[in-house]
Formats: sequence, structure tokens, C-alpha cells
Amino acid sequence: MHAAIPVATSQVQAPPKLAAPLFPLTRPNAPRLSAYVDDLAAIEDSCWLSNYGPVNDRLEHRLVEKLFAGVGECLTVCNATIGLMIGLKLASERSRKGPYVLMPSFTFAAAAHAVLWAGLKPLLVDIEPESWTADRAQEERLLAAHGDEIAAIMPYATFGTCLDLDRYDRLSDRYDVPVVIDAAASLGSVDARGMGFGTGSRHTIIYSMHATKAFGVGEAGLVYSSDAETIALLRRMGNFGFGADRSATLPGLNSKVSEVAALSALVKLADFEAQIAHRTALAETYLQELPGWTAQRTEGRRIAYQFMPMLLPADLISARDRIRTALSSAGVGTGQYFTPHIFEQPYFRTRCAAEPLPVTEALCARIMSLPISDFMTADDVATVCQIVRGICAEILGADAVQGFRA
Ligand SMILES: *Cc1c(COP(=O)(O)O)cnc(C)c1O
Repeated sequence: MHAAIPVATSQVQAPPKLAAPLFPLTRPNAPRLSAYVDDLAAIEDSCWLSNYGPVNDRLEHRLVEKLFAGVGECLTVCNATIGLMIGLKLASERSRKGPYVLMPSFTFAAAAHAVLWAGLKPLLVDIEPESWTADRAQEERLLAAHGDEIAAIMPYATFGTCLDLDRYDRLSDRYDVPVVIDAAASLGSVDARGMGFGTGSRHTIIYSMHATKAFGVGEAGLVYSSDAETIALLRRMGNFGFGADRSATLPGLNSKVSEVAALSALVKLADFEAQIAHRTALAETYLQELPGWTAQRTEGRRIAYQFMPMLLPADLISARDRIRTALSSAGVGTGQYFTPHIFEQPYFRTRCAAEPLPVTEALCARIMSLPISDFMTADDVATVCQIVRGICAEILGADAVQGFRA
């Protein structure tokens, strides 16, 4: 007989439940799978749970159709980090150069981890003060001086902005180097032509469907390219590098998405247009309601805002912690992405090469992200801004009284 499973005797006190913030920085809008019981049952009946199954197939087709005007091909991945890893691995196999990947330090840890997992080394560049994307002069200088050591360029489409992809075409041709774009927050962003960011590009572009992104599904991601061979190779790399006879002919890992996750993304896609339009309207309200704060100069017609990143007014930079604490007490969640930036993080510091990063450092000292979600209304944003303005006025007033700003 098996011993009975011990039952916890609940001696440990449950931690006190913190009141959920009224306006969290992000709030996932779960695709309502519970309304798709028949589709779930169909997956159960099919006994086809993963391995690029029929629901995943439908999702990939629909994504290209709806977000990329039917142009090019895509591949689902279990998350964007893994997508970046296989994208970079393929790039380095193709370029046969190394060890560096040219990338900004102002990005999320996932990007630097992906470079290291691909057996490469981040070469960190600064950003530009208005667009917050990779410093073009530094990129070009490094490519000219060290092009034979650069396996790939990995720009980041910062916070969902669009990038000048023609320029990366030129850099790629001129220096014979592949481009892998971290577009983690850009699914739903629309470029100056009115097309989904990335549409028609031959580069390898990776998007995230993580719960915190505008296309928040949970855990999933997407790789897009107009180059069918790139997608075919990555599809095989994501299935253990197998060739036709289930024998590895490429570097591989498992990046596949379950059929249930694919269904979840299909459900998300159905309402996505309206959700992005709503997020754009919220961002505009922030711009109107927070004069004196500086927003990113974005490129493109529409940004798939995951939250609202803004720069504090100059006279409030040193008060960021106080402002964030006060906002938290008032039920407003904030963030300070990406502080610390890559080169400040201990694991990366010893494993990356870096250019001088003065703009990154100045921006990191000044940035603060404010809430955006599908559930907020423009009035909610106005309320948040009113709270922000009140806290800032109080801090400035108190500092003036204490002679801090004499
Ligand atoms: C979210 C994010 C990622 C990682 O995406 P996952 O799908 O969570 O793996 C990578 N890079 C950037 C810039 C991100 O914001």
C-alpha cells in the first residue's frame, strides 16, 4: 500500500493579501478560451496536441493574412526569447563570422541571454535620445571597423516603435551581415506605409505574445520573414533540427507551440484590431495630460503600446523613487524599463563588450512607465495623470520649502 499523501496542516500563515493596484502597469486581457469549448474539444478529439498541428497552421496563415497583408511567412514559437535564440543561431551559421552581435544596451535581458545561448557575444551600442533605438553612427562605425567579427546585427524596435528597415537592408548588404530584429513589443504596430511592422522584410523578425505585451496570450511568440527559406530552416531548428528522416541536420531545440496555445492566439487575433486602436487612444491621452513629460519619438502610424514609457521632467529626475512609491500607494503601478540596462547587470557585465553609453544612462535615470491596458478608459488615464501631477506638485513644493532647489 502506498503511504497516504501528507496533508499540509496549514501551520504556515498565508501572507497578507495586498490590495491589487487600481491601475496595474499592465493587465493581461486573456483570450476567452472558455467561450471556445467546441474548438477545445476538437483539439482533444484530434489527439494532435503539438508539432505544428492544424490549429497552429491556421494561426500562422491567419497572422500573415491579418498582420502582414498576406505577404511573407511566419513561424510560431513558444516564446520570443527562444525565437531570438534560433534566429541568431541561424544568422551565425549563415554569416560564419563572430563572435559579436551588435545590439543596444537599452533592452530587456532576454535579448542578451539569447545572444549568449546562441554562443555569441553582445556588443552593446548606445541609443539615440529621441527614438530610443540603436545609435546609427555607432552601429556604422563598429561595422566598418569590426565587420568581420560581427555575426549579426540585432536592433530592438524599442517599445513597439517601427524601425527604418531599408537602412538595415543597406547595412546588411554593405557588410554582408544578417539582421535579426527584436520586435518583441511590435506585434500590432503599423509602419508609415500602413502595413504591419516588418511586412515584406527579408530579415528575421521576432515578436512576443507574452502576457505583458499588447498581443498578450501567455507564453508564445512569432518569427516573421519574407524569406521562405529562413522560415523553413527555423521551423526545422525549432523541431530539434530534424531533416526529413527525423535525423538532425541543423542545430536544434524545441520551440513549438501547443495546439491549445495556438487556439488561444487565434482567439486573441479576432479582437486585436480594436484593442490596439484603444491602446493608441490611451497613449494620446497621456501625451495631452502630462505636459512637461517627454514621450518617445516613435516611427510608424500606430504603436502596439504595452505600457506608456515617458521621461520625467528635468526637475523631477532625482525624485523618481519617491514618485513611484507615492503612485504605488495611490494604486497606480509603474515601471522603469530598462533600468538596469544590459551592461549594468552583473551577469552581462563580464560577458559583453560595450561602447560608451551616455544616452542610455541619461535615459535610464529619467524613464518611468505608466499603465496601459485594454480595460482602462481614457478617463482612467486622465485620473492616473491627475494623481501623477498631484504627487509631482507636492514633491516640488516640499523640496522648495526645504531649500532643495535654491
Ligand atoms: C518581452 C521581451 C522579450 C521576450 O519575450 P518572451 O516572449 O517573454 O520571451 C524580448 N525582448 C524584449 C525587448 C521584450 O520586451
